[in-house]
Amino acid sequence: MDLFEYQARDLFEAYGVPVLRGIVARTPAEAGAAAEELGTAVVVVKAQVKVGGRGKAGGVKLARSREEAEQHAAAILGMDINGHTVEAVMVAEGAAIAEEYYCSMLLDRANRCYLAMASVEGGVDIERLAEERPDALARLLLDPRTGLDADAASAVVDAAGFADDVAGEVARVLTLIGTVYRESDATLVEVNPLVRTEDGRIVALDGKVSLDDNAAFRHPEWADLRDESRDDPLEVRAREKGLNYVKLDGQVGVIGNGAGLVMSTLDVVAYAGKNLPGMPKPANFLDIGGGASAQVMADGLDIILSDPQVSVVFVNVFGGITACSEVAKGIREALIQLGHRATRPIVVRLDGNAVDVGRAMLEEYGHPLVEVVGTMDDAAARAAELASAALGGN
Ligand code: GDP
Ligand code: MN
Repeated sequence: MDLFEYQARDLFEAYGVPVLRGIVARTPAEAGAAAEELGTAVVVVKAQVKVGGRGKAGGVKLARSREEAEQHAAAILGMDINGHTVEAVMVAEGAAIAEEYYCSMLLDRANRCYLAMASVEGGVDIERLAEERPDALARLLLDPRTGLDADAASAVVDAAGFADDVAGEVARVLTLIGTVYRESDATLVEVNPLVRTEDGRIVALDGKVSLDDNAAFRHPEWADLRDESRDDPLEVRAREKGLNYVKLDGQVGVIGNGAGLVMSTLDVVAYAGKNLPGMPKPANFLDIGGGASAQVMADGLDIILSDPQVSVVFVNVFGGITACSEVAKGIREALIQLGHRATRPIVVRLDGNAVDVGRAMLEEYGHPLVEVVGTMDDAAARAAELASAALGGN
């Protein structure tokens, strides 16, 4: 989950990273009132969108009065910045900037480690700096056991060539960034620009934070940070049901148990559909986990069948701890629960623990929409064929 700048600002403040006061506003009038409340000679009106390059797009403007803040807010609210509509601005205290720096800590997946970066040439376009003059951007691979501690922070600051009069304070702020990163289970904490103000303070003027959704279980406070306005509505519903569902763009709904099996299922479905008319593809990822109870199966089928693009569902379950007989029972109860909402064919492949009993139960049930197929490849081929036919393929 990515945070808005104002959420990153609040998080920084909670950890003692120096920031300026800021107030969120959703209307020009609120922005004017916020400017008055801040009471500084200059305020900054900043678009709150989860995308970079706001400054360049005209989404960051200085204002010297309440009226000017209102006018800027009126112009910025509703603006489209790289495909994101601005629904809120942050009105922040203006800083008299002497210098702009850059610093960040992130999870470097390619190198399988944490990475800290800093530059005395911050501001906009750090990607361009990294490409055109990589030497101007100091990079340090971090020991995951110690992260961005005081020693690592000093090393980065040295490598980046910060002047002596700011090096100590920048290093101190960097260690705080390291603490934010670790304690918030972040995958990215970026400050661009980190500034030196004319009166010599080091302040984080902008913040970009990504949190690792895999750690959400130990952060109940993240519930308040979530912004579902841009999420797929089916994914929102699935999340509410505790389902591990990702919407994709195809026609074959997929349910399986275990992330690995579901990923492989997506592959075999895509492969089976590749040479068929209409090229049917998987419509979603859905891992119902180990339990595969009737309720979970019903919730999963319900979500998948709510996707109008889905023309067939492929249930691919390997019975382990949960026997196939339980899974068969789950499918049956799910279909009873769904009633008339179960409208599209369901190709089922069962294997593993008690597979014979499970298959026999589904045979006996004899639901007109359910078709049991023996192997994963054959079932994928059958599902793809049905989807292709529904696309008008033949
Ligand atoms: P971004 O373009 O989305 O990264 O937005 P930033 O918040 O980083 O702002 C872009 C630029 O606007 C900064 O690099 C600064 O040059 C400028 N800026 C932002 N806040 C202030 C401020 O308080 N005072 C001044 N003078 N400039 C600011
Ligand atoms: Mn920035």
